[in-house]
Amino acid sequence: MKRILYIPFDHLHRDYGVLKEASAATDLILLVESARMVTGRPWHPIRLYFLISSARHFAESLRAEGFTVEYLKAPTTIDGLETARAKYGELPIFSAEPSSTRQYNQLLDHGVQFIANDFFLTPRALFREWASSQKSYLMENFYRGQRIRLGILVDGREPRGGAWNFDKENRLPPPKNYTWPAYLEHSPDSIDHDVAAELDIAAPSTWATTREGALSQLAYFIEHHFPAFGPYEDAMTTENWALHHSLLSPYINNGLLHPSEVIDAALAAFESGRVPLPSCEGFIRQVIGWREYVNGMYWFLGEDYRTENQLGATRKLLPLFTDSTKTEMLCVKESVNGVEERAWVHHIPRLMVLSNLALLTGVNPQEFLDWMRENFIDASEWVMVPNVIGMGMHADGGLMMTKPYISGGSYISKMSNYCKPCKYDSKLRTGENACPFTTLYWDFLDRHQETFAANHRMKQQFFGLKRLSDLSELKVRATQVLQALDRGEI
Ligand code: SF4
Repeated sequence: MKRILYIPFDHLHRDYGVLKEASAATDLILLVESARMVTGRPWHPIRLYFLISSARHFAESLRAEGFTVEYLKAPTTIDGLETARAKYGELPIFSAEPSSTRQYNQLLDHGVQFIANDFFLTPRALFREWASSQKSYLMENFYRGQRIRLGILVDGREPRGGAWNFDKENRLPPPKNYTWPAYLEHSPDSIDHDVAAELDIAAPSTWATTREGALSQLAYFIEHHFPAFGPYEDAMTTENWALHHSLLSPYINNGLLHPSEVIDAALAAFESGRVPLPSCEGFIRQVIGWREYVNGMYWFLGEDYRTENQLGATRKLLPLFTDSTKTEMLCVKESVNGVEERAWVHHIPRLMVLSNLALLTGVNPQEFLDWMRENFIDASEWVMVPNVIGMGMHADGGLMMTKPYISGGSYISKMSNYCKPCKYDSKLRTGENACPFTTLYWDFLDRHQETFAANHRMKQQFFGLKRLSDLSELKVRATQVLQALDRGEI
């Protein structure tokens, strides 16, 4: 053996990272399942199951190809590297650049040699160049540049269909009397069952843990969900937990799928005429826009960004986030329940229910960030730090978003079927039956008037606040709501 090739658990692709130039004759492949990664935090067991089982399957697939593979359990990643060196001699260790700053620094300190991380479509240096040239880091500007740079859904420098986005077409509430396609079930194998047993859970059928399973999920999405993805991508319903969402983010984030493969499949379906442009554009935006932008911002903004708390939010994490029985707010109960059951809900419950509630109640952004990181199957550090600190919690003073993502019950009422059977009334802001979102929305605006006074994008909201005739009554109710949420009683 001449080299050790270290494969982090989110680089599980044969054709990218260090494996693309690997040789079974000279390279030892090393994967480390560190105790720190498994027991270091109260991780959701389904998240651990997915990451560990995927890595063990991947190690098996490399062995089947003829590679010498060490899959080590060790207290830390560095201990694993040391064990491999002790066994195989002082060989140089190579890895693709890790996706978190912490692991990047650790491996660098340990003498690991990096090749560029190619699990994204945008090299880190290229994003830095873009961000350094911007007055404000608007995702929309980055996304349009990506469309042109990558030649996706453009004619020259102009967008196909004459528009860069189709948000109007893509913001429909859940349809009535609609038949949702069945979910794709994945059959757990013996490796899955072993990992699940170690974690004391039953192996779930929601998530695949192999390259083949990830590809079948991609094919299933393209065939059964993609055409109608766009119109209902923001909708929420008690009738179906996935709607037409692809459920592909875990696989793209751990490497089982490369974003370029997903984009190629989406564009092929669009070019065949089976998929309307708004659905195609809405999906492409998530992959080449949001995903790349968030990763780029994570590296661009640096390590201190995760500690931002510019709204001075100090509330402890509400009990309802860790126990869905601690609330009677149906939208929150459904969302937290989804997280409990499968470590996933789609982007709107994440943003407009869970983050919205954390922001309106003034939960400490770092506590909320930890909860999101620990509980979502696709929650890599690079995903969650910008998404929570910048987008969800507006803790960065507006560096990423020009205004906070807040809403009262009216948005949730419009985009879901949650409110009708809920004990609370989304239209009421005061009184026992008032929707907590509606009460807290106005209370938030009132508390932060000074902070956002100069924000012209919030003019309309503050105009509404000035017209409230019952603000003092509302403030009393807001205090009661906050206290009850702290006790897990609302
Ligand atoms: Fe959620 Fe309020 Fe609607 Fe109830 S009424 S489901 S708390 S938004």
